[in-house]
Amino acid sequence: KKIPWFLCVFVLLMDSTTATAELGWTIHPAAGWEEVSGYDEHMTTIRTYQVCNVFDGSQNNWVRTRHIRRRGAQRIHVQMKFSVRDCGSIPNVPGSCKETFNLYFYESDADAATRTSPPWMENPWTKVDTIAADESFSQVDLGGRIMKINSEVRSFGPVSRRGFYLAFQDYGACMSLIAVRVFYRKCPAVVLNGAAFPETLSGAESTSLVVARGVCVPNGEEVDVPIRLYCNGDGEWMVPIGGCTCKAGFEGVENGTACRACISGFFKATQGDHECLPCPINSRTTNEGATNCVCRNGFYRTDSDPAQMPCTTIPSAPRGVISIVNETSLRLRWTAPQEGGGRDDVVYNVICKSCGGGRGGCTRCGDNVRFEPRQLGLTEADVRISDLLAHTRYTFEVQAVNGVSDLSPYSPQYAAVNITTNQAVPSAVSIMHQVSRAPESITLSWSQPDQPNGLILDYELQYYEKVPAEFNSSLFRSQTNTADIRGLKPGTIYVFQVRARTVAGFGRYSGKMYFQTMTEEEYNSSIQEKLPLIIGSASGGVVFIIAITVFIIICPSILFMMRLSPGVKIYIDPFTYEDPNEAIREFAKEIEFPCVKIEQVIGAGEFGEVCSGNLRLPGKREILVAIKTLKAGYTERQRRDFLSEASIMGQFDHPNIIRLEGVVTKSNPVMILTEFMENGSLDSFLRQNDGQFTVIQLVGMLRGIAAGMKYLCDMNYVHRDLAARNILVNSNLVSKVSDFGLSRFLEDDASDPTYTSALGGKIPIRWTAPEAIQYRKFTSSSDAWSYGIVMWEVMSYGERPYWDMSNQDVINAIEQDYRLPPPMDCPSALHQLMLDCWQKDRNNRPKFSQTVSTLDKMIRNPASLKAMTPLSSSVHLALLDRSPPDFSSFTTVDEWLDAIKMSQYKEYFTNEGFNSFSVVSQMTMDDILRVGVTLAGHQKKIFNSVQSMRAQMNQITSVEV
Ligand code: AMP
Repeated sequence: KKIPWFLCVFVLLMDSTTATAELGWTIHPAAGWEEVSGYDEHMTTIRTYQVCNVFDGSQNNWVRTRHIRRRGAQRIHVQMKFSVRDCGSIPNVPGSCKETFNLYFYESDADAATRTSPPWMENPWTKVDTIAADESFSQVDLGGRIMKINSEVRSFGPVSRRGFYLAFQDYGACMSLIAVRVFYRKCPAVVLNGAAFPETLSGAESTSLVVARGVCVPNGEEVDVPIRLYCNGDGEWMVPIGGCTCKAGFEGVENGTACRACISGFFKATQGDHECLPCPINSRTTNEGATNCVCRNGFYRTDSDPAQMPCTTIPSAPRGVISIVNETSLRLRWTAPQEGGGRDDVVYNVICKSCGGGRGGCTRCGDNVRFEPRQLGLTEADVRISDLLAHTRYTFEVQAVNGVSDLSPYSPQYAAVNITTNQAVPSAVSIMHQVSRAPESITLSWSQPDQPNGLILDYELQYYEKVPAEFNSSLFRSQTNTADIRGLKPGTIYVFQVRARTVAGFGRYSGKMYFQTMTEEEYNSSIQEKLPLIIGSASGGVVFIIAITVFIIICPSILFMMRLSPGVKIYIDPFTYEDPNEAIREFAKEIEFPCVKIEQVIGAGEFGEVCSGNLRLPGKREILVAIKTLKAGYTERQRRDFLSEASIMGQFDHPNIIRLEGVVTKSNPVMILTEFMENGSLDSFLRQNDGQFTVIQLVGMLRGIAAGMKYLCDMNYVHRDLAARNILVNSNLVSKVSDFGLSRFLEDDASDPTYTSALGGKIPIRWTAPEAIQYRKFTSSSDAWSYGIVMWEVMSYGERPYWDMSNQDVINAIEQDYRLPPPMDCPSALHQLMLDCWQKDRNNRPKFSQTVSTLDKMIRNPASLKAMTPLSSSVHLALLDRSPPDFSSFTTVDEWLDAIKMSQYKEYFTNEGFNSFSVVSQMTMDDILRVGVTLAGHQKKIFNSVQSMRAQMNQITSVEV
């Protein structure tokens, strides 16, 4: 880069032309140089030195300047103006006539020269050069009228003493030294490329470059470092390296020599040479020197929006939503919002809410509804929605969102459309099981289609031989989800397909499933194998053959359940029977009323009183039974709902499932008789015996419940209401799953607050898995969640899950991954199992078969139940924690006892003088005994609470100190 010439300067050290008096330089010898006044070319008076001894031969005339201070210069420049007479123009001049002279310098710290020192000779003087005139002249005219003046500049260096003398040696010329100027050169302070450079003296040699470091001007920042300029021997800056530009918020002014803050309303986002820019639309600055402009209220900028882009806002709602319903599918189309918010990245989300006939308003649809191409982030204003429920009201909200929607505190604007789906045929049955088989028959069962889309009237089964001589298919109609196909060929593979029918018509056929009838040999050998088992289990010495014959004659439906052949037994929903009495006849034994003796009322059921009593069947010994009664004045529907429990219970046969003894339907009152469970329901049983069991006893009860649930799960039965209140306990502490009634899930009973109305039924919120609450996905995995809650109830001796939190708070807490903490004294292994049951992803929850074997392992290895360490470090889920109550929130010991649920000991505490927190906090286990607390569990509970009180007191004292 070229540096402007005016940036080079020189500094005069001596100028003979400015002398106002005699120069008074030292002359040697006296007859040599002579100081004379004269005029320069501008006719200004000047002092000059002349010599003209051309005829005298061997001249050696010196004239020496005064001492000249160096002033830091390293290289000195001397400009000489002089005139020389042309030797040839002087008549008779000898050959010794010269037209040149010599320039010398001599360094010295002090002005100490005399007439004789330094001596007048080369060495000690240093010769700079012999100077010749470019032009000499012929006519001497010292009057100044005709003069040919030469000007020569010589320089020398390095010089290092404080000063120096110059000397001019004439050796036979006729000349006049008109002016002598002595100076040095320097590079001046300069601001170049945004950096300031200090004044810098040039170097000692004409070729030397002196480096100067630059410093960025205020609010400038380096672009390249190091920032340098070089000062050459002529005092010129050259070779600039690096530079600075103004930082963000500042722009260059005054030819780039200063940085000034951007004025209000302007910004500069980055460092650089560019200027401040005006704020983009919908933004402003808050002060000068802004590096960005902040968006005005209601406008936003995403991280990826450039600073010069206008601030934008959320889009307005989509317009003109059009819905086209086709059975249980739907197409929605709409028009883009009027206002895109200033952006072109608008996409759409479709929110599905189902508003079934219930009172609970609308709830979000479950994840089984399908959206094509997707539900969220739709780029086109068009979506297809399928797998909706038939005959159901839905609201769809089409939201418009853009890049700044997430930054806005407001929810996206949406357009809503209400639709009602039409009737639709049922979806396909997904799986069929073989219940049993024989040489000429196969019994199959299948589960109801995922989407029945209405009441299933019946099923149609199509079947044919897999390898046909001629293709010949048969049809079989069944009103239940089972079919007993007879008239088949032995040892033959058949292809089966089933489809469901509702008033809307037939659904699709299921996939083909293959089952083979038994060969005669298989059949015979299977009977042989079973014989000893059946004889072994037959009691009362009845001859087996007779028994089985009688069985077959009087009870064909029970034979169905006890089929000798291999196969999976599947629970059959009694509501799939067109006539519910048919289900009752099939699954429950009718008992003659006179066989039943009612003793006393033990509880209240949903349909009437629950009593205890005796059952004496002819030829059998009397047994204790619980008798549920249906109160007088029932409707037909209540009767059907009441008895449905028996139809369900009657299909089960397991030591941990409450056993149905039979029903009384032919006389009033209608009754259901079950085995009697002396200890009643598990939750109240535990509350009455708080702290009274060993961990192994509790785990034993839990193991029984898990075993019962495994059985139900294997039967394809989903309980939906597993809770400690629905577990019964007998005198041997065997716990059994009960309560198979469905009626409390129905909408129209508002009596029990445990069950909260939800779309399509009522749900016990605290016990129910989130997916079942949200979209009624009840499965054995949602039962596993409930089982985890039962574990917690058991380990806390019947504490209410989530204590006094509201249902909505429970739902929110679970959604945010909070889970119940371990109850007091609960082994870590058990709490871990609870947490496993409460996995958000239902597929990760343990199967009941796994739970049974986990609990079995614990029972076999009680040491594994010793660890009580808090699991929080290994559990990533935060736990809802319920520390012992803060005693400082109570004013009396009585209040405190209430809070720890030990109110029954209030009087004991007062009588023994434990009536202030200071004494209570010092209680030992012996004191607790002495007060009269005899139950080990209560002792432990009080002792733990006392300890926590003590700890809290210590904390308070130390804080006060
Ligand atoms: P439920 O309608 O089944 O919930 O029964 C109401 C109450 O009756 C239960 O909470 C039990 O206390 C009692 N109960 C029900 N079934 C039995 C039974 N099999 N043995 C003893 N008590 C029972």
